[in-house]
Amino acid sequence: MEILRGFKDILPTDIAKWHRLENIARDVLSSFGFKEIRTPILEKTSVFARGVGEATDIVEKEMYTFLDKSNESVTLRPEGTAGVVRSYIDNHLENLPYKKLYYIGPMFRYERPQKGRLRQFHQIGVEVFGISNPSIDAEIVYMDMFMLKKLGIENLRVEINNIGCDRCRPKYINQLKDYFTSHKDKLCEDCKRRLDKNPLRILDCKNKNCKAISKDAPKITEFACDNCKTHYKSVKEKLTLLNIDFIENPHLVRGLDYYTKFVFEIITDKLGAQGTVSAGGRYDGLIEQLGGKETPGIGFASGCERLIELMEEENKKQFDYYIANLDSDDYAMKIALKLIESTNKRVYIEYEKRSLKSMMKKADKMNVSFVIIVGENEKNNNTVVVKDMANSTQEEYNLKTFLDNEVKRWL
Ligand SMILES: [Zn+2]
Ligand SMILES: [Zn+2]
Repeated sequence: MEILRGFKDILPTDIAKWHRLENIARDVLSSFGFKEIRTPILEKTSVFARGVGEATDIVEKEMYTFLDKSNESVTLRPEGTAGVVRSYIDNHLENLPYKKLYYIGPMFRYERPQKGRLRQFHQIGVEVFGISNPSIDAEIVYMDMFMLKKLGIENLRVEINNIGCDRCRPKYINQLKDYFTSHKDKLCEDCKRRLDKNPLRILDCKNKNCKAISKDAPKITEFACDNCKTHYKSVKEKLTLLNIDFIENPHLVRGLDYYTKFVFEIITDKLGAQGTVSAGGRYDGLIEQLGGKETPGIGFASGCERLIELMEEENKKQFDYYIANLDSDDYAMKIALKLIESTNKRVYIEYEKRSLKSMMKKADKMNVSFVIIVGENEKNNNTVVVKDMANSTQEEYNLKTFLDNEVKRWL
């Protein structure tokens, strides 16, 4: 007997890391006021066809859809949002005093199995209903980053975009269509197909030619209505206020039709091309589209398998900081204690008199994340030289700036 292709057992030997992930996620989400919801894994096909969008890759080719014994078309959920919205409407959850929900569980997509991509995979996701205030957009990006940091996942980058609404996006899509039609012969086969149904998706095609053509495509910023522009601008201001660094990526469109206004992805470079750790955005029209009252919404989802892979990467590290102390014991100790107190991370101070070269070797063997080099010069100038062992970059900082940054890194 063999397991289905693209499916995987989670064995007792592996369950501890799943528990750890779920526990940390639940802790963080509930401290931000979220409550768990568990919706069925199987739903009527129309929930996803209407919710996710007929013209998306998911609905077109990736769903596990079949007729049940009474000839009803049913589908294993390919994502979490549509089912949660269906339940919100069905159960009149608009009457709850709180409308911040999260889910953890399996999703199913019939994709080509490859490293890091399974046909049954797991997601942690959140949905917020009824809040159009841009503060919530910034809050959930912050919460997402906070959760990832608590899981020990770092070196992340936040990318954001404004993708407009159903008032301004159609104009933009027409312009895109015109633009890509004039380059049709150079597009890949998938994009030729997308041209009619979903030209927005061409913008995030990974094909080299499509990428080159996309570079000069019209941008949504030129078409966004005042409402979308104001909202997006405000989200950016709030992210800055919360100390979240972000990059604006005009090609970030997400694979699902329901997004409006603000979308974001959190990306790592550690997993190669499969770098998206978490992704989401606003979906102000979705609840109405599925038969509910007009209600704004926003959410994100993270792939658990990827999170676990990144957590393991991080667990291989034995120490977070190694203080390469070049004859400045007191200064080294002062820095170490500050780091321990304010970041709660693992710090190792070197007191043996060694050359810098031999200390670097030792740090490498000890599998540390950062080496902090302090000597006479640094002590006199109140600075530190920090080597990031992951990418071998080295930089000098003012001590206070460095400590402030580290506190921010771990929050
Ligand atoms: Zn708009
Ligand atoms: Zn393409």
